[in-house]
Amino acid sequence: MEFDVLRHFKGLEDTPKDPFNPDEIGTALFMGGGMGERITQKMDGYAKKAGMSRRNFIRSSVGFSAAMMAANEITGMKFFDVGTAEAADLDAKAEAVKVARASSDFVVDVHTHVCTRPGHYVVGQNATERGMWFVQLLDDLGKAFGLANGTRDMNVENYGKMILKESDTTVGIFNPFGFREDYGGQDMIPMDYQVKVRENWPESTIMLAGGLTPNQGLSETIDRLHMYVEKYKISGLKLYTFDSTKKKGWWFDDEKLAYPIWEECRKLGVKNIGCHKGVPFGQFYARYAHCEDFDATADDFLDLNFIAYHSAWPYHNELAALKGFKPQRKNLYAEVGTTFAATVTSRPLECAHVLGTLLRDLGPDYVMWGTDSLLWGNPQWQIEAFRKFQIPDQLVEGHGYPKLTDEIRRKVLGENAARIWNIDKNKAMQAKAELVGRAVA
Ligand SMILES: [Zn+2]
Repeated sequence: MEFDVLRHFKGLEDTPKDPFNPDEIGTALFMGGGMGERITQKMDGYAKKAGMSRRNFIRSSVGFSAAMMAANEITGMKFFDVGTAEAADLDAKAEAVKVARASSDFVVDVHTHVCTRPGHYVVGQNATERGMWFVQLLDDLGKAFGLANGTRDMNVENYGKMILKESDTTVGIFNPFGFREDYGGQDMIPMDYQVKVRENWPESTIMLAGGLTPNQGLSETIDRLHMYVEKYKISGLKLYTFDSTKKKGWWFDDEKLAYPIWEECRKLGVKNIGCHKGVPFGQFYARYAHCEDFDATADDFLDLNFIAYHSAWPYHNELAALKGFKPQRKNLYAEVGTTFAATVTSRPLECAHVLGTLLRDLGPDYVMWGTDSLLWGNPQWQIEAFRKFQIPDQLVEGHGYPKLTDEIRRKVLGENAARIWNIDKNKAMQAKAELVGRAVA
């Protein structure tokens, strides 16, 4: 996450929520977003129809369906495939969830995080003022989502509980933050700590590394890459092109500073290289959030995959154009973490344009699911919203966007990531069944 959700959603921090109840979190975001006031007004009527108190209704699974239905009614467009029964009757809702799950049950979340370290962060000891400011931002967010101890609760244990056990996520790919210049010379989430996620759930998780900052010295950067591969057996990179050096950032297509890294990745067999793009908040400079540096890089390293995290939103059009005008490309990907969560609840028309543009221009084989959880709490509400989301007909006809078919949903939710990370779907599904105590099908 790299986006100030507390400004985007009004009153979120004042709403008591159970962080382990994704329905409640999803409903709270709909009620606090761009249409929040009008959705909130409608909730009383829906609660009455369901025969529930307003308080219980808002916490229930039918309440979340009602929030999505309200968004349809207010906009006059069908963004969510939700019927009135699902918003009023618990059994009808449970049945609808079952049907939706069966249509796309394999979910790879490409964008997840743990957000603490042993001993947490102390200014002057292992964090600079700026480093602490960033931790504080995430901490406020965690508290707004009901985590009593904010970022301290975004730990390895809750990663397993909220993402792997209590949501439909089959495989979680977890990402570093890097920024070691702000955290006492170690990555914000040290590798030694985050690797415990993989040690605990080896069949259900994949670990990426980050924090490569060539402006601090190229040979040091290459050494670090070797260490990641040799010591930690990483499955790819998630980088930031903003940095804390005087230069403030770097580009993927810098032939002197960056190409040697990609050449080394080639030799080491590191194929999937992601980068934070878009969401230019806080200390992140907008110029480095644009994705134009993916253009030459993707052409010069055809055997590597380049993934724009956050889909470069709000610059997703630039990303889409890199393939829309060069349809021969096969190594350019988008990931939708935070972008989907922030827009679907608050500005569904924008969400439809973003997804539509990515699917039309990059193609359904190149868009991947991500939620940026634990930062958005239990990700189940996002999974449900995506299974229910539709690009309205008006936009399909006017913009050439595809409809979201079950096939497209399956690709985005899991199959595309499984292809590029070589995930054994059957094995992962078996591990998931064991984790949640379900009989293996
Ligand atoms: Zn993130």
